[in-house]
Amino acid sequence: MLVVMQSHASEQQVREVCERIESLGLKAHAIPGSGRTAIGITGNNGAVDLGFLESMPGVIECIPVTKPYKLVSRDVKQEDTVVRIPTPSGDVLVGGGHLAMIAGPCAVETEEQCLAVAAQLKPTGVRLFRGGAYKPRTSPYSFQGLGLAGLKILAKVRDTYGFGIVTEAIDNESLDLVDEWADVIQIGARNMQNFSLLKRAGRAKKPVLLKRGMSATLDEFLMAAEYILSEGNYNVMLCERGVRTFSDFSRNTLDLAVVPAVKKRSHLPILVDPSHGTGKRHKVLPLSLAAAAVGADGLLVEVHHQPEKALSDGIQSILPSEYAQLFQEVQQIASVVHHTVN
Ligand code: PEP
Ligand code: MN
Repeated sequence: MLVVMQSHASEQQVREVCERIESLGLKAHAIPGSGRTAIGITGNNGAVDLGFLESMPGVIECIPVTKPYKLVSRDVKQEDTVVRIPTPSGDVLVGGGHLAMIAGPCAVETEEQCLAVAAQLKPTGVRLFRGGAYKPRTSPYSFQGLGLAGLKILAKVRDTYGFGIVTEAIDNESLDLVDEWADVIQIGARNMQNFSLLKRAGRAKKPVLLKRGMSATLDEFLMAAEYILSEGNYNVMLCERGVRTFSDFSRNTLDLAVVPAVKKRSHLPILVDPSHGTGKRHKVLPLSLAAAAVGADGLLVEVHHQPEKALSDGIQSILPSEYAQLFQEVQQIASVVHHTVN
């Protein structure tokens, strides 16, 4: 259910409607828009008649939201959500015409490695640095990440070069640490339906980058995001990273058609990861340009200064010099679709 407030409704009236909703044991989510505030209601397991809310001061109408996802839906909020990520070199905006660039190695391997990649990325203009301190690996014998020591290295990257830090949390314990040490909490493809982790991310302070599961439908992807919003964290960015298909020439099939499909259904930003989406270095530039052309709100790209020595995903990692070219070319394509790169 969605309560639409009048454009001139006062903050007090919005608060009173929220309080009334919460007094019934439900959860109220006030969602300010440019013209008016809407209040999403969650927590009702069956049909509840909330028509009486229409008689409260400041309310225009109550609309049932028929989609399975509510708070992520455009029915609830028409305008694009713009996620603001504070970094030492100014806020990075994601969504609503702002395309955010994120680059860095697959994994945090050593301090020297991260500082070397960061030093070479700095002149490209990118302001968000990625790197996994916790690595969800297919094999228990593969490099699992440095954990807290890795988060400390990322903090050093932030302090030294002014990057905002994007890094993955794989369980509740690491999520608390990532929330404390990083600027964006990444939830990886393998955890897209880890519902307790999603709920925990919904209670975190930092924005969340939610990657699409490798066999997730669009509804499942949006429902996963709904878990995070339903707990009160509205700063969620979606990320397409390729899905499993019968195609055998690439690691995954990058589903770029999901970008306009998400935009039609949801106000949340949708980013693209052409690195995991293709698995091969030579495909990263063309697919980055294609992602910008279909209106992606950001690009997450793996970059390593010595990809042949990388402990994970070296084959799909590009060099910093290649990233510099990618950044410039993405800017050109983005301007055609009226997006600004930052
Ligand atoms: C990553 O971005 O480091 C990663 C592990 O990606 P995914 O969850 O999409 O496989
Ligand atoms: Mn990787």
